[in-house]
Amino acid sequence: MSSEITKMVIGIDDTDSREGMCTTYLCALLRDELSSFTKLISDPILVRLNPTIPYKTRGNASVALFIECGDRERVIGHVKEKIASMACLDNENTNPGVVFVDEEKFNAVRDKLRSFFKRAVKDVITIDEAKELVSELDLEFQAFKNGRGLIGALSACGAMLDPEWDHTYEYLAYRKKDVWGTKRSVDESSLFNADRQTYPDTWDTVDLVNNIVVCVPHSGDPVLYGIRGKDVSSVEKAASFVVSEPVERFCIYRTNQGTDMHLISVSSISEIEEMRSYILEGEVCSEPVTIRGGHTIFILKDTAGDIIDCAAFEPTKNFRELIRKLISGDKVLVYGSVTENTINIEKIKITDLSPAYEIRNPQCPSCGKRMKSAGSGQGYRCKKCGTNSEIPERTEIKRDIVPGFYEVPPCARRHLAKLLLRFENEDLPVFPGR
Ligand code: ATP
Repeated sequence: MSSEITKMVIGIDDTDSREGMCTTYLCALLRDELSSFTKLISDPILVRLNPTIPYKTRGNASVALFIECGDRERVIGHVKEKIASMACLDNENTNPGVVFVDEEKFNAVRDKLRSFFKRAVKDVITIDEAKELVSELDLEFQAFKNGRGLIGALSACGAMLDPEWDHTYEYLAYRKKDVWGTKRSVDESSLFNADRQTYPDTWDTVDLVNNIVVCVPHSGDPVLYGIRGKDVSSVEKAASFVVSEPVERFCIYRTNQGTDMHLISVSSISEIEEMRSYILEGEVCSEPVTIRGGHTIFILKDTAGDIIDCAAFEPTKNFRELIRKLISGDKVLVYGSVTENTINIEKIKITDLSPAYEIRNPQCPSCGKRMKSAGSGQGYRCKKCGTNSEIPERTEIKRDIVPGFYEVPPCARRHLAKLLLRFENEDLPVFPGR
C-alpha cells in the first residue's frame, strides 16, 4: 500500500502553549515540507471549536491538510516526528493529537466525523469519546500525553471531509523564528490602507471606531498578522498592501470563522447549559447596570418567566453604550456564549422598543400650579389650593435607539461570531460595529 498513490486527510490539534508555537504554524510548515513529496488537494482548514472550552490556549483552533501522496508511511512518520519535536510538550496543558484518514475510509467515516466536528463547535466532548471514535473508525492516530488534542484533530478531519459548511478565509503570515517573542514590526498605516482597499471583502484588520489594529497578535507565537475575508483573492489582495518585517511563510486557510456555527437556537432559558452558545429571545426586565471593571449587565426574561444575566463586557467598548440604552420591556434576541450563568453578548437584535416616560410631579387639576410631593408614598399636594393627587405626570419621551441588529466592535469580536456584514438582505444591520 505504501507505494500506491493515495489521498489522505491529516487533522492536528493542541501543539501550542501560551509561551509559544501555534498549531496553525505547524500546519503551514508541514504543508511546505510535505510539498516536496506530496500534492496539496485543497486549502488547509482552520476550524474554531467551542469557544468556552477552558483548556484552549487562545482561540480553540484545530487544523487539517488534504494531500495526495505516494508514500503514506513517509508522510505519517514525518508528521508525527514534526509534532514530537515542535509541540510544547513540557507544558502541562499541551496534549497533542494527530489523526490520519486514508482515502479508502472517506465514505465510511465521513458522517461520523462530520457530526463530531459539529458537536465539537457547539458542545463539550470528553477525551474518552474521541479515543472511542478513533478506534471505532479504525483510524491511524497518535495521542501525546492525555490525548486531548484528538478531539480537535478528529474535528478538523470531519471539517475537511464535509464540503457543506459556511466558510470564510484567513491569510496568516508567520514571523521568522529568530524574532519570535520580540515586538512585531508591522506598519499600522499599511493595515488601515489594506482595510480601506478591501473592506467589506475583508474585515477585522483594523477597528475604525476604536482606531486600533486588530489583526496583529501580541503573544509570543509565530503569527505576524491574520487577514480575514470572504475569499482567497480578497485576503491575498489585502495582504499585498501590508508593510512589515520579513514574513517567513504564509498560509491561506478555509475556516468557519465569522459563521455563527457555535450558536444553538433555543426558545427558553431552561434549555440553556453552561459552556454552550445560544440565540435566545426575551424581554429586558432590569435597567442595565455597569459594575466594577466596566462590564454592563442586564437581566433577560423568557416567556416562561425564567431569567438570565446578559453581559457586555468591558472589552466590547462602545457596544456597552448601546446596551445601557435598553430599558425594561424591550424585546431582544441575544447571541452569545454562556459561562457562569451569564450570556456574553456577541450581538443583539432589538426587535421591539418599550415606550419610555419622563415622570414629573403633576400639575394641579384645580389651579394648574405644579404640585409638590406630599412625602414618601403619600402622593402630591398643591401648595396653593391644597388639592391632593396620587398620580404623577408621565410624558412619553423619544428613545435614542432604534430596533435593529447591533454587534460588538472588531476589537472584541469572537472568532466564530458572524459579522453583520455577512448577513443576507432581510437581516440588514442598522449599526455594524465599525
Ligand atoms: P491556538 O488558538 O493557539 O491554536 P487553542 O486555543 O486552539 O490554541 P488548544 O491548545 O488547541 O487551544 O487547546 C484546546 C483543547 O481543547 C484541544 O485539546 C482540543 O482538542 C480541546 N477541545 C476542542 N474543542 C473541544 C470540545 N468541544 N470539547 C472538549 N474539548 C475540546
